[in-house]
Amino acid sequence: MKVHHILAPNPGLFTGLGTNTWVIESDGEALVVDPGPDIAAHVTATVETIADLDVQALLVSHSHPDHAPAAAILGEAVAAPVYGFGPGPGFTPDLILGDGDTVRAGRIVAVAIHAPGHTPDSLCFMIDRKIFTGDHVLGGSTVVVEHMGDYLESLQRIIDLKPKTIYPGHGRIVRKPEEWLHHYIEHRLNRERSILAAVEDGALTVGGVVERVYADIDPGLHFAASQSVGAHLRKLASEALVALPYGSDDWDAPVRPALASETE
Ligand SMILES: [Zn+2]
Repeated sequence: MKVHHILAPNPGLFTGLGTNTWVIESDGEALVVDPGPDIAAHVTATVETIADLDVQALLVSHSHPDHAPAAAILGEAVAAPVYGFGPGPGFTPDLILGDGDTVRAGRIVAVAIHAPGHTPDSLCFMIDRKIFTGDHVLGGSTVVVEHMGDYLESLQRIIDLKPKTIYPGHGRIVRKPEEWLHHYIEHRLNRERSILAAVEDGALTVGGVVERVYADIDPGLHFAASQSVGAHLRKLASEALVALPYGSDDWDAPVRPALASETE
């Protein structure tokens, strides 16, 4: 098995150096993981990489616009089916992959792992003990999370699979996955403690929590941070540790410590 890396030219605050497209080759056949954004130069670079290979499938980790849109274009170019967990904005897979489903190319078998958290539709793909993680695990940074409870469970699931190498959707290859995954979980639990402390210390809105907990980051990232804070607050509210009285985690939504009667 040989792994080729193609970096999409879409660097940014949320994409790092750009999206990683992976081509996994075995015996003249190939799988493409995360075709990436619809950028002509990126599609051309990917077509050149797979020119001599018989592509069996295009695997999409989730429907975000930096991972999925080139799938349909490439699928047509090489007459290969597009696989994903389900449709999303501007993305319709030809075939749906659920947890445990497999896709083959040459002598390799990729197993789909449903890993909700970053998005509900996030998939990872495991070949032997190499895992292609999309945005579930990145190489060198953390990611915006929609559902924190699911996310932490999905991280533990990856740890339990004892990966040897992680090929992330952004950033560098992770050579010591266990260490990095434990760091990820610790980082989130620390953040959760800070968020709970901010609420108990009198932060009155979701935005107020962000401004306290993320005081050290670029304010341009505060809106994105509010999504992760919202994900934490919803988890904490489900555990009756904070109250989100209107059930909203918008920037101005009120938040307060759970009342004693709510924690019983
Ligand atoms: Zn994403």
